[in-house]
Amino acid sequence: MQELVGEPTNRGRDPESEFRFDLLTREWVAITGGRQKRPNLPLKDCPFCVGGLEAAEPYLVKSFRNRWPALMPGEAIDFAQPGRESALTVPSRGAAEVVLYSPDHDASLASLSCEHVRRVIDLWAGRTETLMARPEIKYVLVFENRSAEVGATIAHPHGQIYAFPFIPPAAAREVAVAAEFGCPLCAEVGRGLGDGSRLVTANDSFLAFTRFAAGWPFELLIASRKHIFDLFALDDRRRNDLANLLRDTLARYDRLFNQRLPYMLWLHAGVHLHFHLVTPRRQADAVRFVAAGELGSGVLFNPVKPEDAAARLRAAGPPKLNEQATTETV
Ligand SMILES: [Zn+2]
Ligand SMILES: [Zn+2]
Ligand SMILES: [Zn+2]
Repeated sequence: MQELVGEPTNRGRDPESEFRFDLLTREWVAITGGRQKRPNLPLKDCPFCVGGLEAAEPYLVKSFRNRWPALMPGEAIDFAQPGRESALTVPSRGAAEVVLYSPDHDASLASLSCEHVRRVIDLWAGRTETLMARPEIKYVLVFENRSAEVGATIAHPHGQIYAFPFIPPAAAREVAVAAEFGCPLCAEVGRGLGDGSRLVTANDSFLAFTRFAAGWPFELLIASRKHIFDLFALDDRRRNDLANLLRDTLARYDRLFNQRLPYMLWLHAGVHLHFHLVTPRRQADAVRFVAAGELGSGVLFNPVKPEDAAARLRAAGPPKLNEQATTETV
């Protein structure tokens, strides 16, 4: 049921979006001036429901180009020698897509059947492989921001894909660490996660656990047991196991504070496949801000011990049969 839009007509020509090289950190920053014009408030009619602006035809899962793309297709750019004055600014090359998980406006990944989540995984894998085949694209980031609290402007269950013309710093750092010290996930999974106090849930192919040095109160990793580098390299059984574990983990998140918990989910590929899952909440009604002490130092101060966070998520229990997502709003 996958449906894709054709190439955009304004190919790579948004004059208000560009990458700028920051000489203070020697990292690229995306300046996306044009995106300020996108709607900030929910539209009157949901554009992702069947019959809406972005979903004219019935679908089960669907991806399409973001109408307000932060990254745009075009010819490949050489990022090999950043920092020369002539190369401090380059077009915001890449791709930005939206992934609809379900036609049901009130669904979530946790409320969908395993078979349906498997379709989402297949779509993520297919888009990743297709985008990585483009010469201008070096890295594909699959992610989801759920709820207005983390910037989602539309409530309908959906995620996004950003395809970058370079390997972004967070992923590049994991590549560099693995190259110098060996794969840390193989080491951790191989040790059985120590005494198991940080394990939340697991199946034959994937584990969900809190990180030993988690920077966020209920931060989880969902990692493949096997050293598999990307989604599209997962076989049939592992894709089903991933669907099961994603659903299980996200249902625990919703039960943690008995509310539809805002979260940020992103996939890191390239070394050892894993998802990061973070909520901005530290308590049911309290937001965990990353403010001056942490931004200024680059050191996170996590107010919840990872072992305690894991115990609470274990106690939240697995999804019950036919369980629907909670409907409380945040
Ligand atoms: Zn909708
Ligand atoms: Zn590994
Ligand atoms: Zn990672």
